[in-house]
Amino acid sequence: MSAARPPIVEFRGVEKTFHSGTPKAFTAIREVSFRIDDIPEHGEFVAIVGPSGCGKSTILNLIHGFPDVYPPTRGEVLVRGEGVAGPGRDRGMVFQRYSSFPHLTVLDNVLFGLELNASSLGLSRAARSELAREWIAKVGLAGHEHKYPHQLSGGQQQRVAIARTLVLKPRIILMDEPFSALDEPTRYEMQRLIMELWHEVEATVLIVTHSLAEAVFLGDRVWVMTRAPGRIAAEIKDAIPPTRDVDPLAVQESREFKEAVAEVARVFREVEAGGS
Ligand code: ADP
Repeated sequence: MSAARPPIVEFRGVEKTFHSGTPKAFTAIREVSFRIDDIPEHGEFVAIVGPSGCGKSTILNLIHGFPDVYPPTRGEVLVRGEGVAGPGRDRGMVFQRYSSFPHLTVLDNVLFGLELNASSLGLSRAARSELAREWIAKVGLAGHEHKYPHQLSGGQQQRVAIARTLVLKPRIILMDEPFSALDEPTRYEMQRLIMELWHEVEATVLIVTHSLAEAVFLGDRVWVMTRAPGRIAAEIKDAIPPTRDVDPLAVQESREFKEAVAEVARVFREVEAGGS
């Protein structure tokens, strides 16, 4: 690992107060500091859990550079050593719902970002279309190119959202409760898909989830946040079993896995009770 490489994402003493200076002022996060190293050819998967409203999405939104949330009230948000200047192709976001445009077909949804970045990508129209179709096939939606999101199931809609994000090969993928609206079997399918596709892009992933099992399955490390103003009270890493290239259903039934989830749950309760 090169010591000269700046972290892929770094927060230094970050605070975000919404409606600052008004009676509605609300501090969502405070004193959030972390660094995620940029390991070549190996992105890391960080899962963030914490009580509802503790600022998990705020962290993702700051990294993404959403104008509604960025900049922080205090501290620094650095992506590869530089302040975030706004959303960019290097960072992709997948939400729980509505990540795709309802009035565009699957193909046009996946093409959208490619068209938007056509000049910097340097791809011909034909190459863009081919790439979009490739990703549609990778997420298992070949044959559905000309359907609209409302003609697809919830799981299929999330596949579109994943394809339209990953087609741009972002270095950082931000996922905000991406599978929370799905039934359990579909959720497992999506977890399997994400693990598979991740090898293709080797990005750093930050995922917010309220499922501790999902955090343990997908995460290389799990951060547990306090109630708002949220900060990262604990990081669980050693207790997390390796889950790459294994079947999500089989591993989640294993004793080692269940013990890891129990450990995260224990820390979660301790943090919520004001322990850490
Ligand atoms: P979580 O993802 O942990 O549920 P959020 O980061 O979504 O929490 O929100 C934390 C708090 O900040 C909530 O009280 C929410 O209402 C507030 N908040 C989040 N985004 C905004 C915004 N753009 N404007 C005003 N308040 C916001």
